[in-house]
Amino acid sequence: MQYGEIYVGGRWVPADGGGTFEVCSPSTRERVGRAAAGGPAEARRAIDAAADAFPAWAATPARDRGLFLLKIRDLMLERLEPLARTITLEQGKPLKEARAEIAYAAEFVTWSAEEGKRVAGETIPASTPNKRHLVLKQPIGVVGAITPWNFPSAMITRKVAPALAAGCTVVVKPAEQTPLSAIELFRLFHEAGLPAGVANLVTGEPAPIGREFLENPRVRKITFTGSTEVGKILMRGAADQVKKISLELGGCAPFIVFEDADLDKAADGLVITKFRNAGQTCICANRAFVHEKVYDAFQERLVGRVRTLKVGDGLAEGTTIGPLIDRAAFDKVSEHVGDAVRQGARVLCGGRGTPESGQGRGYFYEPTVLGESTPAMKVVSEETFGPVAPLVRFRDEEEVLRLANDTTYGLAAYFYTRDVGRVVRVMERLEYGIIGVNDPAPAVPQAPFGGFKESGIGREGGKYALEEFLEIKHVAMIV
Ligand code: NAP
Repeated sequence: MQYGEIYVGGRWVPADGGGTFEVCSPSTRERVGRAAAGGPAEARRAIDAAADAFPAWAATPARDRGLFLLKIRDLMLERLEPLARTITLEQGKPLKEARAEIAYAAEFVTWSAEEGKRVAGETIPASTPNKRHLVLKQPIGVVGAITPWNFPSAMITRKVAPALAAGCTVVVKPAEQTPLSAIELFRLFHEAGLPAGVANLVTGEPAPIGREFLENPRVRKITFTGSTEVGKILMRGAADQVKKISLELGGCAPFIVFEDADLDKAADGLVITKFRNAGQTCICANRAFVHEKVYDAFQERLVGRVRTLKVGDGLAEGTTIGPLIDRAAFDKVSEHVGDAVRQGARVLCGGRGTPESGQGRGYFYEPTVLGESTPAMKVVSEETFGPVAPLVRFRDEEEVLRLANDTTYGLAAYFYTRDVGRVVRVMERLEYGIIGVNDPAPAVPQAPFGGFKESGIGREGGKYALEEFLEIKHVAMIV
């Protein structure tokens, strides 16, 4: 696999000067492909192509835009296996999870294709007989999209599909670790016959390309998924042109096990939300709060399950936990575990990286459960983004709500209980954009996805996603 080109105005072209960078597998650290080293000049040309394509695309009936998207969806499902393999090669997640990601990514395309047809304006009753008030919803224009490595395909379709369905044109900058999945998706866009310039791809230097998105007045909207730190840089930069921006940022999800929970289901749920993608999911549980009455019983069930997880290369049969994405991620997880142990946490299983235990050359970390954790530990108060589950004891509902909400993040929260009254009380008081009640996998393409507080602004998913790419225009007339 060698893909050293960007996609601009419907053509695959090298970056100026022909520069490329290597893409390496986090499992083997071997090269799996190349991507073009684009910068602001390439981004500018992509933005020009998107701006030139915008009037015709915006004027294309929503039904016809939807047909292009459905064609893309069909191609994605037809090529599911090679697309999934590329995700595993460059990102590391087990092949089974990569297949699920492609199916999930394709669902955003289907949903957006259907929802695009339902973007409708309004007429508002006037206060005088000779006036009329119309509300039009129109595509905002060129969109600059910046995506992360943890879901290299789904984070692209979650942005591009609703943007195109709404009538916008896009320029995408994917993460440097995972450009190959983006390139393969764009090859399908080309094959589907998407008109030139409607979707463009520029791989390369993040800050200069991001700056071009912010400073170029032809870009009317920025949509970003990634860290809160970079989200803040973009939000500041967007202020200069009062550019519309949506941010899907980090999280620090609480997972609460009440005393009346079904402990087996809660333990299964924590394994799913915490260890999927080696814990590198923005909505993954970061810390588990367990009621003191069921703490020991829950801990035993959880540790038993975590011990069955199999760490290894995502391409190998039976692997359930792949590597962390890179050295920095590995170091952060090690630092969080070290800090917790120094402060008195008990390692119940795992607790170290696997390179020293002989697991290949990748950034593998053993799935870890830390007992007797406290809110003073980084592993509880910060986003760890790794396969580590710290368990914190709590006494009552009031205390756990205070602990769960005591964070600057507000993306996802989970709780397990069989008490209906508690379900209502707790779901209403958790300061989070996504709540899983006895449900470890709440994110679906048709529902709003996004965070409170420093976890972001705006929503992706369902009809909410399209609204982020539309301007509202009021037309008043005297008749
Ligand atoms: P990141 O470092 O913020 O990178 C995300 C994207 O931003 C990448 O494409 C990156 O490019 C680019 N970037 C980095 N610096 C930039 C700059 N100065 N200007 C413009 N773009 C810049 O985040 P990450 O480590 O890849 O992703 C993990 C984070 O994403 C976690 O915090 C996770 O919670 C969050 N996340 C949130 C959601 C959500 O929906 N809320 C979903 C997935 C992930 P390079 O790769 O080239 O550096």
